[in-house]
Order: sequence, then structure tokens, then C-alpha cells
Amino acid sequence: MSHSNDLFERAQKIIPGGVNSPVRAFHSVGGTPFFTKRAQGAFLYTADDQPLIDFVCTWGPAIHGHNDPTIKAAIATALESGTSFGTPNLYEVDMAERIVSMVPSVEKVRMVNSGTEATMSTIRLARGFTGRTKIIKFAGCYHGHVDSLLVQAGSGALTLGQPDSAGIPPSFAAETIVLPYNDTEALVGAFKRYGEELAAVIVEPYPANVGLIFPHPGYLESMRQLCSRFGTILIFDEVMTGFRVAAGGVQEKTGITPDLTALGKIIGGGLPVGAFGGKAEIMDFIAPLGPVYQAGTLSGNPLAMAAGIAALEKLTSDNPYSRLQTFGEQIRDALLSAASQKGLPLQVPQTGSMFCLFFSENPVTNYEEAVASETDHFKTIFQHALKNGVYLPPSPFETCFICSSHEGSAMIRACEVLSEAIKSL
Ligand SMILES: *Cc1c(COP(=O)(O)O)cnc(C)c1O
Repeated sequence: MSHSNDLFERAQKIIPGGVNSPVRAFHSVGGTPFFTKRAQGAFLYTADDQPLIDFVCTWGPAIHGHNDPTIKAAIATALESGTSFGTPNLYEVDMAERIVSMVPSVEKVRMVNSGTEATMSTIRLARGFTGRTKIIKFAGCYHGHVDSLLVQAGSGALTLGQPDSAGIPPSFAAETIVLPYNDTEALVGAFKRYGEELAAVIVEPYPANVGLIFPHPGYLESMRQLCSRFGTILIFDEVMTGFRVAAGGVQEKTGITPDLTALGKIIGGGLPVGAFGGKAEIMDFIAPLGPVYQAGTLSGNPLAMAAGIAALEKLTSDNPYSRLQTFGEQIRDALLSAASQKGLPLQVPQTGSMFCLFFSENPVTNYEEAVASETDHFKTIFQHALKNGVYLPPSPFETCFICSSHEGSAMIRACEVLSEAIKSL
């Protein structure tokens, strides 16, 4: 019996579904999940010693590749001074200064421990600041497992066919208005109806938990204008896109300035970190300065800060974005060429180091079109790729990530395997 199968049997007895986050269970692609014993560069090494070229990259954080020596050294150095202090520390100031200098809209920032905590806190802050209760989110956008945001959500919630989670009181969900993404008319209509009651609009500016979707020209601009006109807080959830599509995220790329931003993933260099920030006037509404309570025992943890600082520092010094864009185009072109040889309608939305596959005639612009695309092909491709040493996210609705280590032979091999996988359909 393989080590992974053995571990999964043990895990299922004492961990619900055998996993600590649901998509890892492979329910939407079938088969048994592999267990990883180490990771290096672009590769995961399974408990059965199979090397896998990894396009999940720990679901986003590993933009520099796994086990990056600079980040590892920063953690090791910090470790000499202790694992947690519970007081203000040197690292968190450095971290905050970096975030403020990199992310255009952020004047003040607070550290938390996950993306979920970050989005949850932005919602509470927006409600406290405006004195309003209703929020708008978009179908297919995933903002972590926050009660009021698990309404028509993406990512694992969508993968498992549970975009609306059990356990959320209808009265909470009633405060959340869900709109189709990329539909300006629907947005205008909602503001007309609820304008003065709307505390916040929260959006993944490039939705990337339902596959990858881009905004129509002018769409985010309209959102910005409506929020400004009605005194509604615009929240960009850049947990995934932050530091990835550009050093300053989608807001840098598009020039659109949200009021608040949620960050996570890359910001922790592989350790558990999130952050939220924005206009000083709004951020000063949180405790101890303001009436909105928010706190964390391990927030600003020195090891996590050291890892995050090293990750951000490396983005600044290496500026990997044009290289990542080249890698992204390389893989997109390989996928499209294989599909056209096979006569299959395939869309590969891609920006920099993010891409996904939609088997659909037309570009996918919202949740409805994403779920209407053909998803069985993805399962076949996933299994073919895995057997041949390439690990894609185990769901057609997750975005694939490229890292700086996806170069040379690893990239050539990955393109070959994925092309073969498409041709095998
Ligand atoms: C991953 C993700 C989250 C949740 O972050 P966690 O660290 O998993 O809690 C929130 N928003 C977006 C856009 C994400 O991709």
C-alpha cells in the first residue's frame, strides 16, 4: 500500500474528510489525495517519493518557489530571538512600512493570521465606520469562510457544490446582497434600491476562485464611482492578487483605489499571515483608537513577519513580474495550441503568474458562465497530469499559480504533459 493511501486512511479516522481544508480531499477530481513530505522550488515530493511540478504553490503564497533559501534564512535568524512575544516588535513595523509603500491605497495596516480574518475584519470595520449593515458581494467571489461572505461563494465552497454554507443564520445572509460580476446595470440597480443602507462592496477585483475572470473595461471604475457617491466602503479582496499580478496588486495595475484592502497568501512567505489596510481615517476606527474591536494573540508574530518581510523584499529586489508573465504566456500558448489541434473550445484566461482552463466557446465573464463550462475534461486532464508528474489544483474552479522556479526543464516538461493531457481527451 502506498504511504499516501495509508496516511489518508489514518487521517480520515480522526480529521473530518481526512483534510484540514476541503478542496484538498480531491472530491471534484476523484481519487485519493497524495501527502507531501517536502517541497523545493517548483516541486512537491510526495510521501511515495513522486516528484510533482506544482501549479498550486500552496494555493498562492509560494511565488518564489517552495522552501526559498532567503525566506528560510530569515525565519532561522528570527527563530534565534524567540517564537512569539505578545508585545509590539521590530518586525511588524518593517512589515507595515513595506505594505504601505507597495500597496497604493494602504495608508495604515493591521496584521492578522489569515485571509479570512482580513476580510472579516474589513467588513466589521466598514459597518462600524458607516453605521450601516448591508454589504454587496459578487457570485463566485470567495473571501474566506466568513459567515456573511459564504453566500454564493467560490473556491472549495463551489467545488463541493456548497456555495451557500449550512450553519449561517438566514438573518446574517439577509444582510448580504449577491450580484453577478461584470454587470454594471445590476450594480446600479442595487445602489438605487439600497444605496443609503450599504456599508460595503467587497470584490475580488480579478475573481480567481471560480477559475480566473477579468473585469470588463469600466466595470471596476463604475463600482468605485457608485461607492464614492453613496458613502459606501469599497473593499478589494486582494488576498490572492496582492503582490502577484503586480507588487501593488490589481489596484496598482488598474489605478483604481479601494477604501480598504484585504491581503494574505504571498504576504506571509508561507507562514500564516493576513493583513488589512486602507485609508488612515477608516483604519483609525479600530481599537484602541476607535470603537471597532479587532485583536489577535499571534498577530504580528515575529517568525511570520520575518518570512513575510523576506518574501516582499525579494519581490522588490528581483522584480519577477515580467519573467512570470513570460512563463504564463508560454503555458497558455501550449494549452491553446493543444486544444486547437484537438478541435476543442478552450479559454485560458491568464495574467502574469495566474491562469486557468475553461472548456467553453466564449470567454468566461461571470459565475454563471463558469459553472456552465464543461468540467469533465478538467478531471481527465488533472488525472493525466498527476500521473505524469504535474500537479494542477484539484478543481476546475481554482486558479493555477506559476512561481519563479517554473523555469527551464520544469516548464518544458509541464507544457509537454499538459498538452498531451489535452490531446488525450
Ligand atoms: C484564499 C483567499 C481568502 C482566504 O484566505 P485564507 O488565508 O485561506 O483564510 C480570501 N480571499 C481570497 C480572494 C482568497 O483567494
